Amino acid sequence: MIRVGLGRDLHRLVEGRSFLVGGLRIEAERGELGHSDGDVLAHAVTDALLGAAALGDIGALFPPSDPQWKDADSLVLLGRAWDLVRCEGWELVNLDCVVCCEKPRLLPHRDAVRASLAGVLGVGPDRVFVKGKTGEGLGPVGEGLAVEALALCLLERKERGEP
Ligand code: MG
Repeated sequence: MIRVGLGRDLHRLVEGRSFLVGGLRIEAERGELGHSDGDVLAHAVTDALLGAAALGDIGALFPPSDPQWKDADSLVLLGRAWDLVRCEGWELVNLDCVVCCEKPRLLPHRDAVRASLAGVLGVGPDRVFVKGKTGEGLGPVGEGLAVEALALCLLERKERGEP
């Protein structure tokens, strides 16, 4: 059996916060505002994986109203969600992501972000890809006010009797 999952997240960018992408801290003038550490890509990936397995979403598992998730490391949240999904027998075929922000550029950091996510998910980096896009100056992303991430995953589970 195979399942696809889609995740999307957006965070406001403000001064005085770290800019985190898939667990990687990238030098930038502004970073994501959030109850947790604000890692927009980690959140989108978490939702994609949970959605594919129909196991809820990041807001249900780690509600922002719960003080224990204040400033939480989003890679830890991703790892916990992935543990739940794996416990149901799912394996990751691949994960493809887009990060939309005006600056900084993602390309120089792409392989490091891929390795970071792949490490948490326990797969080779060849199963994880990440692309950066700008907002062409349009909308909150284009005006540098926000960063958005999209993630699409494919999960596979061997059913009883399958080779
Ligand atoms: Mg978020």
